[in-house]
Amino acid sequence: MSHVMNTYARQPVAFVRGEGAWLWDESGKKYLDALAGIAVSTLGYAHPKLTRALAEQAARVLHTSNLFRIPVQEAAADRIAEITGLDEVFFCNSGCEANEAAIKIARKYGHDRGVQEPAIVVMENSFHGRTLATLSATGSRKVQAGFEPLVSGFVRAPYNDLGAVQRIAEINRNVVAVLVEPIQGEGGINISSMEYLRGLRELCDRHEWLLMLDEVQCGLGRTGKWFVYQHAGILPDVVPLAKGLGSGVPVGACVAGGRAARVLKPGNHGSTFGGNPLSCTAVVTTIDAMREERLLENAARVGQVIREALAAALAGVAGVVEIRGMGLMIGVQLDRPCGELARAALDAGLVINVTADSVVRMLPPLVMSEAEGREAVARLAPLIRAFLAREATAHQSAATR
Ligand code: PLP
Repeated sequence: MSHVMNTYARQPVAFVRGEGAWLWDESGKKYLDALAGIAVSTLGYAHPKLTRALAEQAARVLHTSNLFRIPVQEAAADRIAEITGLDEVFFCNSGCEANEAAIKIARKYGHDRGVQEPAIVVMENSFHGRTLATLSATGSRKVQAGFEPLVSGFVRAPYNDLGAVQRIAEINRNVVAVLVEPIQGEGGINISSMEYLRGLRELCDRHEWLLMLDEVQCGLGRTGKWFVYQHAGILPDVVPLAKGLGSGVPVGACVAGGRAARVLKPGNHGSTFGGNPLSCTAVVTTIDAMREERLLENAARVGQVIREALAAALAGVAGVVEIRGMGLMIGVQLDRPCGELARAALDAGLVINVTADSVVRMLPPLVMSEAEGREAVARLAPLIRAFLAREATAHQSAATR
């Protein structure tokens, strides 16, 4: 019996080595990776520059604590300020922690303005993490059930519905911020409209609220720009980040600017490991390599190749509801639960997963080539077709019995 706490339903495969967009399991079987450890392994596996930088940093110093200056943390913050267009960075270790910091900034911002019970507008179907505050912000009963009482101070609105947030603004004087994923990842690759994001920016400006965009999954180059909000031409006040930021080394960041800058002061927040020399070396090296290798352009191009190949391979297949995505964040919505496809894909030498029960999700490393993108579709599309055909036959025979 394993002593690992049983909080995940795991596939019976263990990857022991990787290179670029490829992984090998214990038996030596090779897999094309279209998941990147859930949007984490930006540079793929065994990237020579990252491997070298981490080894060199490990040989110097791994950790010193935030009681001291950390030059590579300052360099990482400079890089993040450049790519986000924002001012200051709080470093932590994960996406939920980045969102916790965002929630604390919003509450502190409210209290500083005399709002005693500050509230944050959050969306249906959203995912912000598994800590108590972030699961309370999350719009999924499945995530919350069993962990009540929830943290208060969240007001929920339907996703991509500006009118709903406007109506909340009219009646709720406690609102101080809006927290939204520009593309819902766990919720099923749901893309908000750019007008919605611009409308939220205007609404937040009008009411002096903070616009907080959770780009933990969709950010950092995956959609062809550094951040989804850059497609909409807006600047948010707070951006929680994690996942792809360290290309596999755990690191999160809560980035603040505009009216959210300088809200948190010494003593207001902290994290022992946050921004240590090892994780910040990963941040600096990841961002530099993405620039040098033009990985944003690659993500946009290969993402389009994958979506077009999927559209061609699945054209007219009954049961395929929609193929959607931006860059290398892609979902194939089926009309029925399809969790078993993740296992079938592994058998076929492909790593993907299924989210929101019925959405096949692809989040490949940003180094994936066009040929690899086509290969991923060549492995995936027949599985989807076979799954839907099998289901249809089972349905028919049940109906005629
Ligand atoms: N926010 C979003 C949009 C996410 O997709 C996730 C994880 O999937 C999180 C927050 C939580 O991140 P973590 O698992 O690193 O705490």
